[in-house]
This record gives sequence, structure tokens and C-alpha cells, in this order.
Amino acid sequence: MTALLADEAYARDLDARDDLAAFRDRFHLPPATIYLDGNSLGLVSRDAEATLVRALDQWRRLGIDGWTQAEPPWYFTGEELGQLTAPLVGARADEVVVTGTTTVNLHALVATFYQPQRGRGKLVCADLDFPSDLYALASEVALQGRDPARDLVRVRSRDGRTLDEDDIIAAFTDDVALAVLPSALYRSGQVLDMARLTAAAHARGILIGFDGAHSVGALPHAFDQWQVDFAFWCGYKYLNGGPGCAGGLYVNRRHFRRLPALRGWWGYDKERQFDMAPHFKGAKGAGRWQISTPSLFACAALYGSLGIFAEVGLTAIRAKSLALTDYLIALVDELAEDGYAVGTPREHPRRGGHVAVEHADAPRICKALKARGVIPDFRPPNVIRLAPIAFYTSFQDVFQAAQHLHAIVAGGEHLRYAEGREVVA
Ligand SMILES: *Cc1c(COP(=O)(O)O)cnc(C)c1O
Repeated sequence: MTALLADEAYARDLDARDDLAAFRDRFHLPPATIYLDGNSLGLVSRDAEATLVRALDQWRRLGIDGWTQAEPPWYFTGEELGQLTAPLVGARADEVVVTGTTTVNLHALVATFYQPQRGRGKLVCADLDFPSDLYALASEVALQGRDPARDLVRVRSRDGRTLDEDDIIAAFTDDVALAVLPSALYRSGQVLDMARLTAAAHARGILIGFDGAHSVGALPHAFDQWQVDFAFWCGYKYLNGGPGCAGGLYVNRRHFRRLPALRGWWGYDKERQFDMAPHFKGAKGAGRWQISTPSLFACAALYGSLGIFAEVGLTAIRAKSLALTDYLIALVDELAEDGYAVGTPREHPRRGGHVAVEHADAPRICKALKARGVIPDFRPPNVIRLAPIAFYTSFQDVFQAAQHLHAIVAGGEHLRYAEGREVVA
């Protein structure tokens, strides 16, 4: 068998047999680049561009009347985009709303669902979680008058890359009130077994929420079936909603009667919001957790982008994504002599949408890759994250990226760059 690294025809063949190949033309790809950073900032589709321009045009034509007369009316933006997102997370339409951003939504939900009681005051999270989540969770514990050093339990990783579900479940003790965990780890790309963790938490009387920033849009979720209590995620990564785009949140129906801890008029009963009454009357669904007026231009691109998700369907998206990461992993395996190793789980159910390529010289290799027009990102201490995206990455892109990885190390090209990362890595 020919080594994959020497077999470009194989990559061409995979592209020829790819059912989603045509979607590449629906996106604006930066010229002369191989873009492998769609897990940090997804690219703009022509569809998303059109709905963003539409919003601007509505503002120009309608002014204030855009709230009611735009097509669709701005007033229902959060709910409508929530309805379009619901199939991606396995939820009913009224359980999802597009609002806020990831960290803000974390605060809104955790403030509501973290209700420490005497003898049950701890919050379980993951040591390897994204720092913003850790800062936010520690501050929520402190807001309850508790000491994060004692009451925020960070489950440790055994290998620095992944979490063992058994270790997390072992932390689900009787003194825990809430668990907030990533669906997929931002560095290694490991996907946690959310069904199992939810069942284990509930069996011990613990509520559980997930940060889906690194999985929503990349793979299917079944939040309703798993009975997850709440979740939140990012709009600008796999959902391709644009930089700083609104995020989304999910609240399971059984919690609809809860009073949001951080209330604002945008979470009010939609029929009566403009009664301007002094006492809060929450909307009937997850929309109740909205706080303030949606930033229209931070939402508008999602209409176009989510349309593409509906057109393709998550099954096909996930199948292509796995084929791309399978191929990338196999290529990186052939680069062991150059010092590269795969840090992402190989089993499909435990793998998200990106591959963590580890190398002792990762920061400098990332700079050399960028100089060659390959866009990765670097995550300390030694991870080159590469995310081939089902809609717009070809198998030939993956093949070429592996050629660049090899050429950089073989030629010592990375040694010309300064060590250390850039400000936005
Ligand atoms: C990207 C990401 C964030 C970003 O949060 P913002 O509030 O949008 O800046 C937070 N948490 C996780 C896990 C992420 O992946």
C-alpha cells in the first residue's frame, strides 16, 4: 500500500466521491489559503452574507418598523433562530433561543440553576475546560457567598488531554448541587459521553449543563432524549455566524417555570412585553432567559448559515467531518518521525470536529504554517489545532496541509521564527 502522504490521487478520489463537495462554492474562502480554523471562527457563506445585508437593508428602509415589519420581524429574532437551531441540539423549538454570547449565557444559566443548599453546595467542572468558563464558574460560586477553592470542584485529567467519565462521575457526590461540563474539550477535541454523565448526575440528584461551543454544528446532540437540564454554545465557531455572533442556549421544558436569576425585559412574555409592567412575567420557553434586545447584526448572518445546516442535515455533516478527521489522523500518523503526534481520541463517538496535532515546537510550526497559507491555531503548550470543516474543506486541503507539516520540519523552516505565541493565537 502506498503511504497516504505520497498518494495525492487518493485525496482527489475522496473529493470526487464527496457528496458535499459542491457546498464549498457557497462559502467565501480566503484567497490562496487552506483554512483549518473553522472551529475558532467559521467562514462566511454567501447565504449568511445575504441575510446580513438584508438586515442592513431593512434598517435602511424600515427604521424602527423593522421590529414588526421586517421579513422576518426583528422582534422574534431570538425565538426564530432558536427554532432553526433546535434540530442541531435535539431539542424542541421552544427550548432553544439565540441570545447573548457563550460566557454571558453561562452566567445567566448558572446563576439560575446553581442553588446551593446546606450540605449540597458544590459545583463540579472540568480542569481542562476553556478558561472563560472556569473564571465564570468561580465567580458564580463566589456570588453565592462561597469559596471557589472549596466549592468549585475541578475534575482532573489523567493524561493532560482527556477526561475519564468515571472520574467525573466519582466527583458526583452527595454534596454537589450542579455540574457544568464541556461537550467537547477545546484543546484535544474529546467529546464527553453526555448521555451517561446526565444519567449519572440525575441519579445523584445533581443538575447538569453542558457548554456546547466545540460541538454544536459539528455533530448531533440529543439534549431532550438525554434529559440535559441546560446548555449553551457559540455562534461563531462551527455555526459560521460571524465574529462575535450571538450564541445560543437550551433549557429543558421541565424547567420552564423557573425564574431566571438575571432577568431583563427581553425575557418577558412576548405578547405583553410592551405593556411595560413593573413586575416580571417570564416568556413561556427558553426565551425567558434572554436579557436584553438582540444585537441584530450579530444575529442576522445566522439565518443564512442555519439554512445551510437545514439543507445538508447533521448526519451528512458529521459523516464528512469524520471522514476528514480520519484522513487527517492517518496522515499525521505518518509524520511521527517529524515529531508529530495525534492528541485527539480516535474512536468516533469520542471525537469532535478538530484534530489536536501535538509537537514540541508547536508555536513556531503554527507561524510557519501561516506563512505558507495554512491557517491553524495554537493552544498551549504544544497543540496545533486543525479543523477541516465539512462544508468547505476538501480532502486535498487536508493532504496539502500534511505536506506542509512535513516540509516545515524537514527543512527546519520553523526554526526561523521566534518562540512563543502571538496575542491571538
Ligand atoms: C469559544 C468559547 C467560549 C467563548 O466565549 P465568548 O463568551 O463567546 O467569548 C467560551 N467557552 C468555550 C468552551 C468556548 O469554546
